[in-house]
Amino acid sequence: MSNNTAININTITDELNSLHNELEKRIQGIQADLSRGRSQDSQEQAQETENDEVLHALAADARRELTEIANALSRIRNGTYGVCAGCGVAINADRLAAYPMAVHCIDCANP
Ligand SMILES: [Zn+2]
Repeated sequence: MSNNTAININTITDELNSLHNELEKRIQGIQADLSRGRSQDSQEQAQETENDEVLHALAADARRELTEIANALSRIRNGTYGVCAGCGVAINADRLAAYPMAVHCIDCANP
């Protein structure tokens, strides 16, 4: 494997799409958990409230990732995918393979 192989847009599109489906399923699971019945016991209710907060945070993370995926797919469509939004250089292929939603090159991401 070379260090900076050309990115394969088809592979990345497939990856983004499967990640998208995975996240949708995760959100559905979280929503199912959140709509479960509530305990009558006040101590258990406190625990449930705490769990719900965690679930809401997880759902928010998943939704944020879905937005990033949608943005990456639209950059693929308009031909700007893989170009750093900060400095305009091509983002390293290894970085895109590890994190296909990357908008910035490693230098701009870690100033
Ligand atoms: Zn950059």
